Formats: sequence, C-alpha cells, structure tokens
Amino acid sequence: MSGESAAKILIVEDEPKLAALLGDYFRASGYEASWIADGREVVPAVKANPPDLIVLDLMLPGRDGLDVCRELRTFTDVPLVMVTARVEEIDRLLGLELGADDYICKPFSPREVVARVKAVFRRASRGSVPASALGLTIDEHHYVAAFDGKPLDLTPVEFRLLRTLAAAPGRVFSRAQLLDNLYADHRVVTDRTVDSHVKNLRRKLQRASPDREFVESVYGVGYKLEL
Ligand code: CA
Repeated sequence: MSGESAAKILIVEDEPKLAALLGDYFRASGYEASWIADGREVVPAVKANPPDLIVLDLMLPGRDGLDVCRELRTFTDVPLVMVTARVEEIDRLLGLELGADDYICKPFSPREVVARVKAVFRRASRGSVPASALGLTIDEHHYVAAFDGKPLDLTPVEFRLLRTLAAAPGRVFSRAQLLDNLYADHRVVTDRTVDSHVKNLRRKLQRASPDREFVESVYGVGYKLEL
C-alpha cells in the first residue's frame, strides 16, 4: 500500500453477497469500501464519516434509495451512483433530476461497476467540462458543429443530438430524454430512431477524430458524451 489515502466508497446494498463482492472488487482496485444495508443508516453515516463516493441501491429496507438520495443532495455533492434492478426505472429516475452521477442496472458485473465508478471519479476531479474543451464547436445560430475546426456536416437531428449531449458532457441521457430534444413531436419515432441517429453521429465524429469515441452507450440507459 502506498502512503496516499485511498478514496472511500460507501456501498448501500441490502444483499450481503452482492455488497461483499462489490467491496472485494473496490478494494482490489485500490479503494476503501464500507457497507450499509439499511436505508435509515445512510444519512447519519455520511454525516459522521463523509465518503468520496456512494453506490446506492434503490430498493432498500428501512428507507428507499430515492428518499435517501434526495436528502443526501440537501447537504452534499458527493458523487452518487444509483443502482436499480429495473431498467424501466431508469427513465423515471432521470426524469426526477435527483442529481445522481450515474445509473447502473442489476444484474451487473462488478467489473463494470468499478469501471463506471472510476469514470465518475475522473469526471468529478475535472469539474464541469465545456464541450469546447473536447475540441467541439457548436454554432447555435448556423446550426453547424465542428471538431478541431473541421466541419462535421450534421443533419439537423444529429446537430440537436450532439448539442443535447454536449450541454452536459459526462451526464447520462435516456433515449426518451434525447427524443424530447430531437423532435418537437415524436409520436411516430421510437427509441430505435435515437440509436440510428447516434450511429450516424458517431460515424461523422469518427471521421473527424478517428482515435476517439465521443458518444458512449450506457447499457440499459442511453448515451453520454465521454470526456
Ligand atoms: Ca435492494
């Protein structure tokens, strides 16, 4: 172990085996991990010993994760990763604007959780990053976007897609949220429509910047602009 103090992760999870597995993975990745199973204990524990990041299950005994999340956000900006067993729940969670930093669906692989937590830490350490820092220029007036000065030649829908994602790099958008920003009236379009526009946008970004993947898929949720 080095002399540097390890980042502390608080796991809030009522399935002991899952909590233990996550704890092992976090420790193997160099983090400190502690565990709480009861929703009522989270707020006092965070106040007494603030963690550097919280992985918060939605369905908890004592007090549900939504409620815990809301109260946490009244006094702390600690990075928060919400975990839910229901993919359908994520759209609702995103709509509630709870201020979580990422969302993960069960069942998940612990390896994936560790990767997502690392990404959240990276984003938190950088603060909020404007799209221009990524080399992207988005011209609202002329409806054109460029990467490193090279025009991306986007359709209006692709432009709106990029504009939405670039308004909050690193933030996860659900397909439904993206649709709301792509069309004034989306009666006739489906989630698959978002996927095909993302595919086209990616292809154009890739042409401008072959080594970089800007638009990242978030399994079970939607998309985000990677930093
Ligand atoms: Ca649970």
